[in-house]
Amino acid sequence: MSDLTDLTIAESLSKLKTKEISPVELTQAYIKKLDDNSKYNAYVTLNADEALKAAQESEKHYNNNTNRSLEGIPLGIKDLFCTKGIKTTACSHILDNFVPQYESTVTQKLLDCGALFLGKLNMDEFAMGGSNETSYFGPVVNPWSKNTPLVAGGSSGGSAAAVAAKMCAAATATDTGGSIREPSAFCGVTGIKPTYGRCSRYGIMAFASSLDQAGPICKDVTDCALMLNAMAGYDAKDSTSSKNEVPDFSSFIGQDVKGLKIGVPTEYRPDGLNSEVAAYWDKAAQILKDCGAEIVNISLPHTKYALPTYYVIAPAEASSNLARYDGVRYGLRVSGNGLDEQYINTRTSGFGAEVKRRILIGTYVLSAGYYDAYYLKAQKVRRLVKNDFDEAFKKCDVILTPTSPVEPFAIGDKKMLENPINMYLNDIFTVSVNLAGLPAMSLPIGLSQNGLPLGMQLIGRAFDEATIFKTAYQLERGANFVRM
Ligand code: GLN
Repeated sequence: MSDLTDLTIAESLSKLKTKEISPVELTQAYIKKLDDNSKYNAYVTLNADEALKAAQESEKHYNNNTNRSLEGIPLGIKDLFCTKGIKTTACSHILDNFVPQYESTVTQKLLDCGALFLGKLNMDEFAMGGSNETSYFGPVVNPWSKNTPLVAGGSSGGSAAAVAAKMCAAATATDTGGSIREPSAFCGVTGIKPTYGRCSRYGIMAFASSLDQAGPICKDVTDCALMLNAMAGYDAKDSTSSKNEVPDFSSFIGQDVKGLKIGVPTEYRPDGLNSEVAAYWDKAAQILKDCGAEIVNISLPHTKYALPTYYVIAPAEASSNLARYDGVRYGLRVSGNGLDEQYINTRTSGFGAEVKRRILIGTYVLSAGYYDAYYLKAQKVRRLVKNDFDEAFKKCDVILTPTSPVEPFAIGDKKMLENPINMYLNDIFTVSVNLAGLPAMSLPIGLSQNGLPLGMQLIGRAFDEATIFKTAYQLERGANFVRM
């Protein structure tokens, strides 16, 4: 094996178990790759020395046969997950000196499985964005970029880029409206947003609490199952975490999809849909058909309302969640003449433009007089969007759509700050899933004519990630996408 960072988690684990490689060797190989960070800006904080120490501990576990499910696997962690003793900034100036006293439940579970952390990954500020351009630490560069630097997607741009560039074996990420799936598609890697409630939100900085969900970004489908096995499960510290039993997701890898009904929604094929995206969508359907699945046309009639609904609900919740950053208890403080002025100075200098925009929109839609017109209406439409899926899942078992209507674009191209609608439109295929609380995965399907990755999305019934894993694995085999 020339480069250990080429291995998937599953491959690494089998070589670790037979002692063909050691956790220290594996970790060192990834640490070497961190030199590339200056090119991609995927990590905002490195934890290499600690990772190496943890690898030595993992070595003991292998020697004593006490190795756990992810023993010695080097991960990157999105900087939205609180990590005890490791700076956690949400890529915002307002938290750029914040060191948590506690560990998020998801990262704790990964540590308990023997994984180790190489560092904290870049992201859009407070996960607000679709291109990683709102980060206080600057954009992530997509490792697939050729001459012009391209966006890695967002908000989990650092996570997707680090996995693509083999700067970690896998990464944690979060998805409020597409932030796991869209960067996965842009960077040619695989990510799953589980059902709302599958993973605990405890210790993950809140953006929109009714939409936020953690999940993994990995090199392939098999690794996503291994990671989600470790991350998922009920947590008393998150009142919205689910008590539903967590199946062994790995057991669905390799199962056949004969007779499975794959829904293809009409509304996701608007006039003018990018022809390459449309062609790959047809190809994906054909691959699954060749595996014995049945393609059925379905309708999700409220799709066109999903985006405006999301962009009312998400900012409303964000404006409330971000009220805690007041310069009093933690994070940045810019003093002023009295308390009010201190709040104003702190928040003015601490938050970036996109975060401020969302706080303003959110406060507006929640204010007396506008609450009924915007927020309440949005909640009603949210229910209609969910009802659409309930109806559709009477006719099919899993839904197949593209992940993004476009391929990765140049940094600065969409002029996010001047014209956010351009950027928001990229979320057209992903936000409905969050409004309905459903699980969905993005996996690479092929390259565009420009040699850039395109992704397909598989949406499942609530708590039926199993069918997604089954289907995704067969699709991955058929697509035969060559990783970077
Ligand atoms: N792009 C979407 C937004 O900006 C989704 C972000 C996310 O999923 N965190 O809100």
